[in-house]
Amino acid sequence: MTFISTRNTAPAASLSQAIAAGLAPDGGLYVPERMPAPRRLAPGATLADTAATLLQPFFAGDGLAPELATICGEAFDFPAPLQPLATPGDHVLELFHGPTAAFKDFGARFLAACLARLRRGAERPLTILVATSGDTGAAVAAAFHRQPGLRVVVLYPDGRVSPRQAHQLGCFGDNVSALRVAGSFDDCQAMVKQALGDAGLQAQVPLSSANSISLGRLLPQTSYYAHAALDHHARHGRPLDFVIPTGNLGNALAAIIARELGVPIGRIVLATNANRVLPEYFDGGDYAPRASVATIANAMDVGAPSNFERLRWLYDGDDAKLRAAFRSHAVDDTAIRQTIAERYRRYGEVFCPHTAAAVHVLGDLRERGVEGDWSVVATAHPAKFESVVEPLIGRALEVPPALAALLARPAHADPLPPDYRALKERLLRD
Ligand SMILES: *Cc1c(COP(=O)(O)O)cnc(C)c1O
Repeated sequence: MTFISTRNTAPAASLSQAIAAGLAPDGGLYVPERMPAPRRLAPGATLADTAATLLQPFFAGDGLAPELATICGEAFDFPAPLQPLATPGDHVLELFHGPTAAFKDFGARFLAACLARLRRGAERPLTILVATSGDTGAAVAAAFHRQPGLRVVVLYPDGRVSPRQAHQLGCFGDNVSALRVAGSFDDCQAMVKQALGDAGLQAQVPLSSANSISLGRLLPQTSYYAHAALDHHARHGRPLDFVIPTGNLGNALAAIIARELGVPIGRIVLATNANRVLPEYFDGGDYAPRASVATIANAMDVGAPSNFERLRWLYDGDDAKLRAAFRSHAVDDTAIRQTIAERYRRYGEVFCPHTAAAVHVLGDLRERGVEGDWSVVATAHPAKFESVVEPLIGRALEVPPALAALLARPAHADPLPPDYRALKERLLRD
């Protein structure tokens, strides 16, 4: 399969080239030249085998194709269970059983497994540069830790990520360096962008990114939707509808692609926090990206969803068709807090703030009489956001074992001024 840019002015690329590049050279996002025909998918397969079957047409003809099954086995070595909720017909798809307890582990591990193979035999290591406000950096650091031929440099705003998040970023060592920047997330991101665009630096230190526009992160995320919806359909004969906590639209876009590939998924509803660019658009307004506002569901604090360009491409740039296909609802911090407290009080269920936004939206749909079998997508374990969740439920949360193991390691981050020259020096030195 060949991949083209959403902006149509970059040369077509193979899957390997598109994964290695991240962004297309014209600034667009890589998309498949055409969507593959619906797949013949069987329930009852493992998550890894479902992934390999689903992704096979995207890998057809690529150098990575013979290794697809091994890559899937390596990346998907933890479960993504679909569990019933207390309210009848409602479910939760738990995506937080990976090493850093968030769904980003799936995409980051798949990307790392692909890049490790693409860099085999390379003379110099490839440096993955990541600016993070928390979850992405930890997932990428964990996935690339000790991968041969690869190293990771994570930049995060000092004092503006939770203590647990900072610890997760600094606890790896080896080929992973954490830099705590005396500045904001935007400063970190600007420094990373400048480095990625610095041809002189790249000639000496090959660089790549691992952000949510990477095809190597997007494509594998279709797998857990397929695995859950196929099993549900086999058991009950009905499709599964999803409410998805949404920021940059990477996770939701994967569900949309899975549906295009023939997975028995019904409706897809996007839940955002108080950043309402998507709800406004789907309600008929213009697409109006803007600066983000800070919320307690901070991994969704996005004012310009980076995958929107891909979503529009998928609907042929036809806004009416796109608006007709989805609903999106915004949930503010007050409603998120109420949902966390109330679901615990009434049912003993505990959700992270992002997942709680989706639970709130599903509750509203049910109140309006919407029927069907629904699943909310749990994007992180609540223990990652203990400072929000614990006061609302009035008890301490148990930390999942993988996360506890990370928190038990010593952590270290080097300080860095918010200055591009300092980053460049650091990259040239190591
Ligand atoms: C990244 C993240 C999201 C948002 O996912 P997108 O793919 O950016 O839409 C939601 N919840 C959590 C916990 C996350 O880490």
